[in-house]
Amino acid sequence: MIRSELVLGLPDYEITDLQIRGGGIHILARYTGPRSCPHCGRDRLRNKGRYRRRVRHENWGLRHCILELEASKFQCQDCGRYFRQRFPGIQPCQRSSEAFQKMIFREHLDGINRSRLGRREGIGAATVERYFQRGLKRQFGEWHSARCPQLLGIDEHFFTRRSGYATTLCDLRNHKVYDVILGRSELSLAAYFQRLEGKAEVRVVCMDLAAHYRSLVRLHFPNARIVADRFHVIRIINHHFLACWRDIDGVGARNRGLLSLMRRHRHNLRADQQPRLAAYLADHPVLETIYRFKQRLCYLLLKKHRTRKQCEQLVPRFLRAVYQLRQAGLAQLVQLGQTLAAWSEEIVAMWRFTRNNGITEGFHNKMELINRQAYGFRNFQNYRLRVKVLCS
Ligand SMILES: [Zn+2]
Repeated sequence: MIRSELVLGLPDYEITDLQIRGGGIHILARYTGPRSCPHCGRDRLRNKGRYRRRVRHENWGLRHCILELEASKFQCQDCGRYFRQRFPGIQPCQRSSEAFQKMIFREHLDGINRSRLGRREGIGAATVERYFQRGLKRQFGEWHSARCPQLLGIDEHFFTRRSGYATTLCDLRNHKVYDVILGRSELSLAAYFQRLEGKAEVRVVCMDLAAHYRSLVRLHFPNARIVADRFHVIRIINHHFLACWRDIDGVGARNRGLLSLMRRHRHNLRADQQPRLAAYLADHPVLETIYRFKQRLCYLLLKKHRTRKQCEQLVPRFLRAVYQLRQAGLAQLVQLGQTLAAWSEEIVAMWRFTRNNGITEGFHNKMELINRQAYGFRNFQNYRLRVKVLCS
């Protein structure tokens, strides 16, 4: 006798015959395992007639596979209720086994769209979608923990033109998306944060320089330290610096070659690029001063893994730089100085903590792909479920 686990992936079935019909394989089998009443759990049953149950099973190579089971109707001798025989691996009232539904879930997840997959497997597109949703929910239940992670990254990303932006909460320690929430304003997030579990255990929250996120975190995460995201801080410095450059020398700032040199860190300049930049700066002494200042500031902010003592020495340097920016008299630099002053506590914390939102940014790329693969989402909950399963 062939062991049914090898053929079907299910134990306790006895395979009675294999046939080829219409290009598909029919496996005739009967269930030999224990039977009990689904209502009361006892096993004193009376057979009230036989029938055949036919379900789709996972493919054999490229051939469709149909499982034909000998089934019975039973009456329970203890509770007196009637029921149809239950089979492990096959849910009641389903036309396919769980293995088949998992196969559909996996193939759709791998990018075969539902109409094409439905045509290939001889089922409707809506059925593919139903099996897929079921699979997502199953995986989601297995993986998702209700408690908020201790190291949290917060960032926003674009969802759709109609619904606008969504907020990503990222578990920075385990590299997965904890949740996505529609909206990015305080109003739309407040209700969500209110009922979040484990808020008191959150130790670090990493975010870009967005004031509404900061006030939300201060309100809802009492024990969390807010850390600015290094990438965003450097980007904002570069942004203001380049705008200031355009104010001073509009013609030079439009030169793409120079632009590429000016925005780089010094260590990223090649040997042949350095004299070119030096020659340009020599003609503009004001710019040279600003450029040097910016380089110093960026290098200061790129420092990480510092001890508390080392940080104490760095803080005065940072505060001096902020003071100089605010006294510079150039609109863009003054504005930058004000932003850095408003976020000084969070920026200084970057030296102590190495985590940044790079992981979150990476997940945003993946989410964009998920969105494109589904040809866009109308329902945010569908999107959320898919993101949470695929980005963990
Ligand atoms: Zn019973």
